[in-house]
Amino acid sequence: MLSLHNHTIYSHDGNSTVEEIVKSAISQNMKGVGLSDHIDMLLFEERHILENAKKCYNDFLKAKEKYGNKIKILMGAEMGEEIFEPEKAQKIRDIGEFDFFLASCHFVKSFGYEYDVCYADVPMWSHQKINRYLVDYFDILLATVKETDFDVLSHLDYPLRYANAIYKKDYDTTLHDSAIKEILTIIAKKGKAIEVNTKNADDMNIFLPDAYYLNMFKDVGGKYVTLGSDAHYANRLSVGIEKGKKLLKDCGFDDYYYFEKRKPYPVSKLKNKTE
Ligand SMILES: [Zn+2]
Ligand SMILES: [Zn+2]
Repeated sequence: MLSLHNHTIYSHDGNSTVEEIVKSAISQNMKGVGLSDHIDMLLFEERHILENAKKCYNDFLKAKEKYGNKIKILMGAEMGEEIFEPEKAQKIRDIGEFDFFLASCHFVKSFGYEYDVCYADVPMWSHQKINRYLVDYFDILLATVKETDFDVLSHLDYPLRYANAIYKKDYDTTLHDSAIKEILTIIAKKGKAIEVNTKNADDMNIFLPDAYYLNMFKDVGGKYVTLGSDAHYANRLSVGIEKGKKLLKDCGFDDYYYFEKRKPYPVSKLKNKTE
């Protein structure tokens, strides 16, 4: 088992240290664990992102030295809204040698960038407002996959977790299929990956994205998919990973992948160091 997408205390909403995460992953008999703290470009100063990223990198080096013989520890970052602040993104990239960069979007700028949809009053939104939000959201993702140097696109349909899966707005997501297809086609052509985010797979059976978009990714030539529990607590690292593996198998993917030094490798070939 391997989750590439996890948060430490160096994320504003993370709760566990790097060491706690690594030790927990070892005790859960995982093959590997990725560190991917929030790099929110639009709150870069407010959240002391650069200082925190440097601290995380140092803790990663220490953990690798101490536990690297027991588990594969991979250094990454969840680059949020990179297209708006490429110079700030570069400062992060200059910290050291990263294994992977996740690309994501939590803040849709046109709605005010304090507006992470997870805090929005989505139950009050009309379908028209959801539609406007999603048009802007997928525009940002399209620019992101075209212009930034990423390895994995995280939670492709993140706002839908709130619109449909949690708040049951019964919104017709197929309205955005052509935009999503364009995004997935670029990712496939670049030989990059998409993530299946399994944070709510065990409790609510939510996969971001689910089989519908995974099949679309396969149809446009996509090969690489990663799994991420998006854990904010060390004891949640393996949440949904087994279910995610089954979903990928059902969709006809041969394996799931991790990135090391920016290259994809199949997890099944990775030896479990704790055995
Ligand atoms: Zn995220
Ligand atoms: Zn995350």
